[in-house]
Amino acid sequence: MWVDVIVEDVLKTRPQDRYVINDAKSPSGPIHVGSLRGVVLHDCILRGLAAADRPARFLFGFDDYDPMDSRPVAAPAEFDQYLGMPLSEVPSPAGGRGSFGRYYGLEFIEVWKHVGAHPEVYWTSEMYKSGKFNETIRTALDRAEDLIQIDREISGSQKADRHPVQPVCEHCGRVGTTVVVGWDGHQVEYECRPDKVTWAKGCGHRGKRSPFDGGSKLQYKAEWAAKWRILGVTIEGAGKDHMTKGGSHDVASAMVERIFNHPTPYPIPYEWFLVGGRKMSTSTGIGVPAAELVAILREELARFLMVRPHYRQQINFDPTGETIPNLYDEYDRAAAAFFGELEGKTPAETDLIRDHSRTFYYSRTNGEQPRCIRMRFAKVANLMQMPTVNLFDVAAKEKGAPLTAQDRSELQQRMEDARRWLGSYAPDHYRFQVQSSMPRVELSPMQREFLGQLAAVVAQQEWSGEELHNRIHDLKSQIGLKPKDAFSAIYLAFLGKDSGPQAGWLLASLDRAFVLARLRQASTAGVRGPFDSAQGRPGSEVR
Ligand SMILES: [Zn+2]
Repeated sequence: MWVDVIVEDVLKTRPQDRYVINDAKSPSGPIHVGSLRGVVLHDCILRGLAAADRPARFLFGFDDYDPMDSRPVAAPAEFDQYLGMPLSEVPSPAGGRGSFGRYYGLEFIEVWKHVGAHPEVYWTSEMYKSGKFNETIRTALDRAEDLIQIDREISGSQKADRHPVQPVCEHCGRVGTTVVVGWDGHQVEYECRPDKVTWAKGCGHRGKRSPFDGGSKLQYKAEWAAKWRILGVTIEGAGKDHMTKGGSHDVASAMVERIFNHPTPYPIPYEWFLVGGRKMSTSTGIGVPAAELVAILREELARFLMVRPHYRQQINFDPTGETIPNLYDEYDRAAAAFFGELEGKTPAETDLIRDHSRTFYYSRTNGEQPRCIRMRFAKVANLMQMPTVNLFDVAAKEKGAPLTAQDRSELQQRMEDARRWLGSYAPDHYRFQVQSSMPRVELSPMQREFLGQLAAVVAQQEWSGEELHNRIHDLKSQIGLKPKDAFSAIYLAFLGKDSGPQAGWLLASLDRAFVLARLRQASTAGVRGPFDSAQGRPGSEVR
């Protein structure tokens, strides 16, 4: 399991009494699921270190002194006037006292609580204003040429000539548009340039001010390096876009080691989290906000989705198709491994079960996970749509014992998930509705013969779903009907479509008199269509 591998490597290569794990995000709009992967990854490392008796802190910073460099689609057009200002100084899109950065930061905090992560939050605007950056700002001003040189050398770009300090313009409040033109050890001289960046227009002011206590911010690579030093960060992963050779992580690493005298934290470069195949970007509004993911998936599953794959493997989550039933099945397998319900026959199988078990351990969203029955999600979705079926009764029968409170709440959760899924992402073949009158469908003579004989079977006695399932198989073999033709005959007669849930269960769940009447009607007076010839119509595919 990849978390265990990382934790073991950290303990071996960076032996320390205590660790500081850091993650950060600029709250420039709705924060997308890609950032949630980072939170879960760091939270897993924290959990792994705690299990190894190594105290660690997990910090999460909202970089809200960053300038607003584009307007999120959700924000009104009048917000364009704030482009270039620190996110902490732009009003909240929802009105009220909070800032723009605070609004989206708090929204993200709500999301990570759902997946069981509880990092300590800090806001860089507060760090700047309270003077925590002062020492590094002084160093950056004194050694500005060295920092620019490092950026050029590591990134290989001659265009890397940005001064590491950006004063806040006293006239217009922008920080993205200013350029340092002098430094006397107390004050910076700066210009607020209309043409410094394409996404914001400086006011043209030229002035002198103290760069300390919120009077300026560090350019982002220098800021990253300074934060490692100020917070004493020892472990920090980042998305692979930051981790390319000569990229921002390489530059920040050289800056922290050569200028700020602190080792580069243990790096963990992780892959994208895509939804429906697209990389997510906070500012362009493409992709799925993290909040939507936790609305689609229950908490444990959302976390499992990010814990299960190796961190260097891309996640491409598409909630349509078979994704959610498959995810549930994998989650159940991991739970079974965790609770010792699986036994490996070969060393390879045993390893795999151990891996599943650790995945479940890191996927838990809160404390002890109770052991309970886990009815397959696809089955829950099917049974829920059958009239008169009580899932609690079915589950108790399957278990062979009365349900515990945990069993009931787990089943209840699955029913809620299934209801939501059936109403949104479930493929059509999972959805069905028993038709109150005989649907207008075409049945071949052989299919009608089959339904007639099935009526005779149903008339004999009350059958359980499984018994009826076996009788259906016997009957279609006797008649010489292909399985798909036999099952589609039942689905067509009851659901008006050629696919559906397990037919035995379906029929056993319905009122027996109703089933008999429908089978008889379909066998004799099935609506005749153009294919109703002697050869009959080939049955449709049962998916
Ligand atoms: Zn200005």
